[in-house]
Amino acid sequence: MLLPELRQIVCDLHAELPKNNLVAWTSGNVSARDPESGLVVIKPSGIVFEDLRPENMVVVNVDGEIVESDYKASSDTASHCYIYRHMPEVNGIVHTHSRYATAFATLAKEIPCVTTAMADEFGGPIPCGGFALIGGEEIGQVVVDTIKDHRSPSCLLQSHGVFATGPSAAKAVKAAVMTEDNAAIVWTSMQLGTPLKISEADIDKLYDRYQNVYGQ
Ligand SMILES: [Zn+2]
Repeated sequence: MLLPELRQIVCDLHAELPKNNLVAWTSGNVSARDPESGLVVIKPSGIVFEDLRPENMVVVNVDGEIVESDYKASSDTASHCYIYRHMPEVNGIVHTHSRYATAFATLAKEIPCVTTAMADEFGGPIPCGGFALIGGEEIGQVVVDTIKDHRSPSCLLQSHGVFATGPSAAKAVKAAVMTEDNAAIVWTSMQLGTPLKISEADIDKLYDRYQNVYGQ
């Protein structure tokens, strides 16, 4: 079996999606690229989260062609692969329809950067890209076009949901969790009034400190 360790990692990370209330039923998926071989491990299509095992993960090449699998790959595979081909620094991708973030997406509204945690993690707003149909690589094109002009590793897709990226699949899952958490905070704050802005200069300082100084 190819890439047993990466299969295990991607399988374990899928369990984080229901645990963090980011998905319902079979929606949502995680993929990871093996930096050495360039192969991608992704969720099989339409299998419930509890039944996912390292063995039923699908291995595809970066053009989305199946290399090793007994199952059909996720219907978002072509879009994941488009992102990997156009963003060499990305080795992990997560897609969800998480509740609060998708609510913003139904209005094609970005999530504004109005908390220090958001400035730390996203360095600005979480942008929203335009509408694209599911099945081909159109969604991947929208994701690449939307996040290339932002610091945010994640974006919303109009009327659809969230795509989060990272240098590893674990980092992409973290971005997906933080996207939903911030969407919920901003939505709650909007029920109370208009959230106050943080200046660009302060966002820059917060982002720089968190990315370069924070942690061990
Ligand atoms: Zn979707």
